[in-house]
Amino acid sequence: MGVKNIYLLDFGILSGELGWFLPDPAGYTETIIEKRPRIPVWTDIPVTGAIIEHSDGVVLMDTGSHPEAKKAWGPVWEVFPMTKFTDENRLENQLKLLGLRPEDISYVVFTHLHLDHAGQAYLFKDRRTPLIAHKKELMWATYLMYLGKVGAYQPVDLESLKGGEWFTFDGETFELLPGIELMFVGGHTPGSIIMKVTTEAGNNYLFTGDFIHLPEELERESKGWLLGDIDEYITGLRKIKLLAKRPRTNLVISHDPKLWEKYPKAPKPLR
Ligand SMILES: [Zn+2]
Repeated sequence: MGVKNIYLLDFGILSGELGWFLPDPAGYTETIIEKRPRIPVWTDIPVTGAIIEHSDGVVLMDTGSHPEAKKAWGPVWEVFPMTKFTDENRLENQLKLLGLRPEDISYVVFTHLHLDHAGQAYLFKDRRTPLIAHKKELMWATYLMYLGKVGAYQPVDLESLKGGEWFTFDGETFELLPGIELMFVGGHTPGSIIMKVTTEAGNNYLFTGDFIHLPEELERESKGWLLGDIDEYITGLRKIKLLAKRPRTNLVISHDPKLWEKYPKAPKPLR
């Protein structure tokens, strides 16, 4: 009894200036003595999610971007365009690869509620599927929307989830099901969480959500303009590094540009 299989879902590609993810993206530091213009460097990152097949239900982690993002996101699209999104990247079609329909999902877990994670969750509102996030995340996302501070939290996503079957936790950790643990880290957004999954076979997978965007952050211990809270970031990063030392433990960094070289896409399971 426990986690049978894990599958990674492909929700297309988002592009953005590298400085969002890593400081000093051009590889040098601008100094007063040697003033060089900052050259914008852009990078492509995959937008991904996961299905956890558990003996007590099917868990979906993150839902990708809204299929009509270009229309729905307004000026934010210019900053973070979805440069690849086809029919195959729609959540329904990713689920179909596994023989699943939206009504087969028992729980939807949000690592956070940004536009590339909550964009297709509208599929679950009327089905009364439990929607799970950290309490700080739901509160901050709606608060910022009400203040009119539209950025990476998009009204199109949040409004469509109003009245959904929300469940939040406000402590450090929450065991969703045996072998599936949600942990508060913050750092990127006020309520960012990571998810630790232990399979029946005894393998551990740490899903870092956007707490870590690029693997280089692990070594540099710094994030670009998407850094939220430095105290939470350094504390959480050190915690992840410590957890990653455990035997048979793998990090799954949702937006790792090399993710598909490291792990297979659904319908192939993680091993
Ligand atoms: Zn993201």
